[in-house]
Amino acid sequence: MEKYFKKSVLKLDGYISPPQKEYLAKLNQNENPFDVPGELKEMLCEDAKRLAWNRYPVNTSPELRRRLAEWHQVDESQILLGSGSNQIFQTLLSAVIEPGDKVIYCPPTFSLFDMYADLYGGDLIKVHHTPGANFPIENLLAAIDLHKPKIVLLCSPNNPTGYEMTLTDLERVCNATPGLVFWDEAYGEFSDQSAKKLLDKYRQLIISRTFSKAFSLAGLRFGYFLAHEDIITQLVKINIPYNVNLFTEMVAIRLLQNLAFMKKHVGYLKKERERLYNRMREIDGITVFPSAANFLLFKSTDDTNLFLELKKRGILVRDVSGYELLDGFQRVSIGSNEENNLFLEKLTDIFKD
Ligand code: PMP
Repeated sequence: MEKYFKKSVLKLDGYISPPQKEYLAKLNQNENPFDVPGELKEMLCEDAKRLAWNRYPVNTSPELRRRLAEWHQVDESQILLGSGSNQIFQTLLSAVIEPGDKVIYCPPTFSLFDMYADLYGGDLIKVHHTPGANFPIENLLAAIDLHKPKIVLLCSPNNPTGYEMTLTDLERVCNATPGLVFWDEAYGEFSDQSAKKLLDKYRQLIISRTFSKAFSLAGLRFGYFLAHEDIITQLVKINIPYNVNLFTEMVAIRLLQNLAFMKKHVGYLKKERERLYNRMREIDGITVFPSAANFLLFKSTDDTNLFLELKKRGILVRDVSGYELLDGFQRVSIGSNEENNLFLEKLTDIFKD
């Protein structure tokens, strides 16, 4: 069957879904450790019974867009909804990249960037970023100047390193690039900054957000873009119709009516992030990096295979050692206090012998 498929597809391994259950602490997918509260779920299930499941939803969910617009202080016409932000990221690249178009991004970063850019025939230009070093803004600006990219792909806070690009640097990128600037803020709620205030100033800026992290909704799949109305107008044309299902739409609206729920969990996780970071710094044999997201990047200072050692002890983290420049690195999601303590206990245990 291989003859029927693009070379860019054949060479991919595909996304391998990690095992879900059999661990003391599952800290590998940057999920929120807190589920939507039981009483709210009960109410939502009751409400779901009253929906007409046999009918299509109203396309592009006007009420949900209206509530997001209210929250972010933008116009409804500046919002594109997705079945998770990954889905609309694919929509975006399919709409923008023609074979040979230059795409600049900064590895190590979110793995879907190069996967989709490559799939649509983009000419990928990498500006590397070493964990722990300052963001290579001058190299990035030089690459933009040289290649005049169709699109620059940025992730801040960046997965899997946790570092942020400053908004001042983002402005420099926007001023320098002739093309679009994509800014993935999937972890934005865990950071103290957001690029949304730059939307009016830079018409080519696209901000991507998700309910999968801060809003505890990874399982229901909901994400969205904020961008200039003229960008959204083009993307809506090729976005899959009815991509946000009735139930997800209803739940997202309810969570937006009660932002306190999300803010409480974000506050908790930010405190846990600082505690975990400080405790990990005290462990001899570990280097850990500061993060503005709900995860921390770390590595052993010797050749200990931390992924396997933690797994043996019942803790699942994300092995990111296959990423460029991240040989030997691991990423741990911030879990509940109990999960984080278990993680710390097992990590300390590894270096006891
Ligand atoms: N962007 C980044 C940077 C991510 O790390 C993730 C989750 N792994 C996503 C997007 C995916 O978001 P969603 O669940 O909304 O598709």
